[in-house]
Amino acid sequence: MDDINSTFISGIYNWCDRWCERCAFTARCRVFEREKERDLKEPEDFWNALSENFKETLEMLHLIAEEHGIDLEQTVKDSEADTSLEEEDKRVDEHPLNIITSEYLFEGKDWIESSKLEEYCEKLTQQIDLGMRQVSEVNDEVAKIEEALEVIQWYLFFIHVKSKRVLNDLSDDFWEEYPEEEKSYNGSTKIAMISIERSMQAWKILFDAMESEQDSILNLLILLDKSRKLLAALAPNYAQFIRPGFDE
Ligand code: SF4
Repeated sequence: MDDINSTFISGIYNWCDRWCERCAFTARCRVFEREKERDLKEPEDFWNALSENFKETLEMLHLIAEEHGIDLEQTVKDSEADTSLEEEDKRVDEHPLNIITSEYLFEGKDWIESSKLEEYCEKLTQQIDLGMRQVSEVNDEVAKIEEALEVIQWYLFFIHVKSKRVLNDLSDDFWEEYPEEEKSYNGSTKIAMISIERSMQAWKILFDAMESEQDSILNLLILLDKSRKLLAALAPNYAQFIRPGFDE
């Protein structure tokens, strides 16, 4: 228990993404204090730079999906038709949100573990050898891709785990007594949404860089977009949740 005069924020670590190296609240977090001594790199600057292009990511996704004849609104409506957790026989494992986030987890993992990135880096090396591109330009591109991959990998499991937590909390009426800003499923939805949006922005960086992989990346972006919309439908008041420290 933190005493009232402590600079530590009580329970802040319950509503974060556990990415301490990118967290602006390390000095006020008991968990970080215990685990301590990380190499911090201006976390706020990093996230601000990444979040600047989320609107652009969504616009791009809608445009490209349309070009491929995919109706993003319809695919979500089909899933939403079955999102209620009120039916007695509805099980969390069968819920569309659980299925879609699990699909994203496995497909995203397969994508990252495939040879796509290696082949892409070989292509970049050839372009340098052929004098088509400058070393410094390629280095910058590789650094951006590495950063994007770091974000994708960090949230790969987290999105599924947090979404499942939302479903579990919603299937229990315990939280109905609490105000919106304290309901656990709103807090889990909020951090799941942040993780999804950051992942989408990171995939967009790969989408822009790797022209030959745009179809496979588009599929992953669509899974994330569906998850985002399902979460918003399940916990429409999630934005009201106040995460200690982060939202105060
Ligand atoms: S609040 Fe920040 S420092 Fe504490 S556990 Fe979460 S990410 Fe790490």
